Amino acid sequence: MSDTVPPQPGIMQIALYEAGTSHLAGRTDALKLSSNENPFGPSQKARDAVARAVHQMHRYPPTDHAALRQAIAEVHGLDPDRIICGVGSDEIIHFLCQAYAGPGTEVLFTEHGFLMYRISAMAAGAAPVAVRERERTTDIDALIAGATPATRLIFVANPNNPTGTMVALDELERLARAVPQAILVIDAAYSEYVSGDYDGGAELAARLPNVVMTRTFSKIYGLGGLRVGWAYGPRAIIDVLNRIRGPFNLSGPALDGAEAAVRDRAHVDHSRAENARLRGWLAAALAERGVPSDTSCANFVLARFADAATAEACDAALRDAGIIVRRVAGYGLPHCLRITIGDEASCRRVAHVIGQFMAERARGAAL
Ligand SMILES: *Cc1c(COP(=O)(O)O)cnc(C)c1O
Repeated sequence: MSDTVPPQPGIMQIALYEAGTSHLAGRTDALKLSSNENPFGPSQKARDAVARAVHQMHRYPPTDHAALRQAIAEVHGLDPDRIICGVGSDEIIHFLCQAYAGPGTEVLFTEHGFLMYRISAMAAGAAPVAVRERERTTDIDALIAGATPATRLIFVANPNNPTGTMVALDELERLARAVPQAILVIDAAYSEYVSGDYDGGAELAARLPNVVMTRTFSKIYGLGGLRVGWAYGPRAIIDVLNRIRGPFNLSGPALDGAEAAVRDRAHVDHSRAENARLRGWLAAALAERGVPSDTSCANFVLARFADAATAEACDAALRDAGIIVRRVAGYGLPHCLRITIGDEASCRRVAHVIGQFMAERARGAAL
């Protein structure tokens, strides 16, 4: 009987990760705005590269990811020897916890931070520690105060998911310097959506001995289904992570698709520009209808309602209209809904349904 062999401590306390819903019962035309996917999909060049790669599927892929690392390095002006690629950035988060956290150590993250930090910390047997935020924004002083001699990793998503807010890089540098016993992991999954020439934390990861930046092909590159992420950091840390990385962790189609995607800057620029335009439009439209949100730097807005019951009722109204958004009660935000920025028609549909919902509420309250 296999349940006579207990798993490692901490494993059974892990709550299963719930992905954004992708289907509504009885509907085939549902609009999915629950997983922060790029509404334009992947670059045509990435699609073509994956299609070509299927002819080589009888071959094992390269183990060193040299071509993909070189492409990433050229595009971002980085040293290819300090890049590691993983099965999504999720796998890299996992490597970091496996390599640096364990029983007797602590892993810090913010109150409304990405759920994978907690899961990976617990999988490694470490104690997960959530630190409060200030007005749904990372609080550097609270993180510094929350660190102890047992802290080994601090995860900060910047911009954060599901809040969409971010802090300045000099604040993150202050955190890294204040907690030298830990590695600061800057999760830059949404950095391409930040306006201006934001580097996601690459320069910090190049300069400081305890900063790692993680990136993903799942968001602006529109390749969530291909599963590719990467990290940049000090050579010593990348060397450690490579020792626990499976040699064939990335498939040939994944490597080729990601390489073509990172080189197609026009697709990234178009996606960023459209997102910025529609994010501003949707946030303003929702605010006009009585639904505020914090200024988002990512490809979603976190819509705030009076209370959890109203958020739940609005979610039900959206579902009735065939629209799936993300409930974020699991992130400690039961009165909010996270809405991915879709294309223009999708944004208009969402604003229309939420507008109707709020108007009906107001009429109900006036009766
Ligand atoms: C979506 C997301 C990721 C990306 O995960 P992948 O494993 O690369 O798909 C990482 N961090 C955050 C905060 C995210 O929201």
